[in-house]
Amino acid sequence: MAWDFTTDPEFKAKLDWADAFVREEVEPLDLIWPHRQFVPLNETRRKVIDPLKRQVREHGLWATHLGPDLGGQGYGQLKLALLNEILGRSSWAPIVFGCQAPDTGNAEIIAHYGTPEQKERYLRPLLNGELFSSYSMTEPHAGADPTQFSTAAVRDGDAWIITGRKFFSSNARTAAFLIVMVVTNPDVSPYQGMSMFLIPTDTPGVHIERNVGLFGEPLNDGMHALIHYDQVRVPDSALLGGEGQAFAIAQTRLGGGRIHHAMRTIGLANKALDMMCERALSRTTAGSLLSDKQFVQGYIADSYAQLLQFRLMVLYTAWEIDAYNDYKKVRKDIAAVKVVMPTVLHDIAWRAMQIHGALGTTNELPLFTMIHGAGVMGLADGPTEVHKTTVAKQVLRGHRASDDEWPTEWVPKKLAAAEAKYADYLEHEMGNL
Ligand SMILES: Cc1cc2nc3c(=O)[nH]c(=O)nc-3n(C[C@H](O)[C@H](O)[C@H](O)COP(=O)(O)OP(=O)(O)OC[C@H]3O[C@@H](n4cnc5c(N)ncnc54)[C@H](O)[C@@H]3O)c2cc1C
Repeated sequence: MAWDFTTDPEFKAKLDWADAFVREEVEPLDLIWPHRQFVPLNETRRKVIDPLKRQVREHGLWATHLGPDLGGQGYGQLKLALLNEILGRSSWAPIVFGCQAPDTGNAEIIAHYGTPEQKERYLRPLLNGELFSSYSMTEPHAGADPTQFSTAAVRDGDAWIITGRKFFSSNARTAAFLIVMVVTNPDVSPYQGMSMFLIPTDTPGVHIERNVGLFGEPLNDGMHALIHYDQVRVPDSALLGGEGQAFAIAQTRLGGGRIHHAMRTIGLANKALDMMCERALSRTTAGSLLSDKQFVQGYIADSYAQLLQFRLMVLYTAWEIDAYNDYKKVRKDIAAVKVVMPTVLHDIAWRAMQIHGALGTTNELPLFTMIHGAGVMGLADGPTEVHKTTVAKQVLRGHRASDDEWPTEWVPKKLAAAEAKYADYLEHEMGNL
């Protein structure tokens, strides 16, 4: 019986260290350098961040999402989940631990599909935390349905010329390179006709039109670029994986990315729950503490139960990824996690905000930012509706239609079958009455 919810003592000690380290050393960075995580380090920030990264390496917790051959620890997704739920408290923590999105997913696909030269040029510095990367897939007119993408590459001798526009390419303004999904053969199904390219951001023809900001950020000073690829010429060696492999590569990338977001979301939701409980125990109104009011107790109980369910779901899915080593086999559960994630964070942060009264709505607490983050999670890496469809399709594969007019569980039919099965005994019982 191998099911076990314990953490081995050696790794538990590492987690305890990480927890204290994030709270004491890393969370303060969120306050002094907000929104600077994906900006290459200047001299001052380097003096602070590099020694922190060194400590993480010394504790064997650097880039834990990858195997030892790629500079990680090979811990697998379950251990990464336990670590990520600690890192989720802080927006700087993933950077300090070398496992920030979107770079993790990008590193994974270069590790999986890249040539030795591509790994040397892009992967090694990415893993060392020396540069950032951007994933450029969504287009202004099409996001959830990649079969509508129109950015295209045409062959020109031993090079490709790429033309089109991409929207919401996160961190493109500070990234050293872009991974771009484009049509390379319009004459076949999009599933076979699209390819991925690795393109240095300073390649002539890569024009950032706007750096779109999220809610609350200044206009055109955000991190999500609208990019015009204007006749961008790249050599054949810029192709990542084979021609026509973009969909397979995207699935590898997004599977990992989605579950990593979920792991960190546990940490963020836990932070909101901690805040809710502290406030409930600190504030008196109408003759008693908030924690004595049944409505508030309901908020706390619902939040705890919701988070526990979500956490178990994420840990189980991480365990499945390790066990099967095949994202396709875990697709249904990754999609289910993705569906649940925004609601869990939204609900818990919303209740925490409500309990904090007016203060909860201000920029002096992180609660409204979390609620906005929940909205983002319902879209980034694909909208909730699309993931629900995936879950439903996969669930339905395990079922079939009823073989007659009535449902299988229709009681008259089942009763008749049960009576036929035990007819001898029933007759005997009747005789004995
Ligand atoms: C913070 C953030 C970061 C992002 N980073 C990146 C990035 O780095 N690179 C990148 O390429 N993209 C990125 N994206 C874009 C993201 O992948 C898209 O927003 C997402 O795929 C949805 O595409 P869309 O915004 O064009 O919405 P649309 O495709 O227009 O969908 C809008 C809505 O329509 C409904 N809908 C769509 N399809 C269906 C369906 N099949 N069934 C039922 N309802 C449906 C849903 O309600 C959906 O929310 C990011 C998005 C956010 C918010």
